Amino acid sequence: RGRTAVKARLLDQSVIAGVGNLLADETLWQARVDPRRTVDTLARDDLTRLHRSLRRATRAAIRDGGVHTGEIIEHRGPHGRCPRCGTPMRRASVGGRTTWFCPTEQV
Ligand SMILES: [Zn+2]
Repeated sequence: RGRTAVKARLLDQSVIAGVGNLLADETLWQARVDPRRTVDTLARDDLTRLHRSLRRATRAAIRDGGVHTGEIIEHRGPHGRCPRCGTPMRRASVGGRTTWFCPTEQV
């Protein structure tokens, strides 16, 4: 609920015990959700996808040795391209943190 951007909510300690900045970007990219969306615009299936993606990204990070091993992490940057569709990654600031996302797929 509310007008908070979805990424800010993911980073909020009180909601899901502190998802880190990189893990939040990875989760939102996996779920194909725009980090700037406010939580009140998320439908049930968006929430299901976010929940599933968060769990998958967390497990992968533990298995592979850290959140820096996420699929999108090396592509976060001014010359990065989305590894799924090739679109140049876009930068934004959400909740005071830098976020990188695919403007084509993350809607
Ligand atoms: Zn993409």
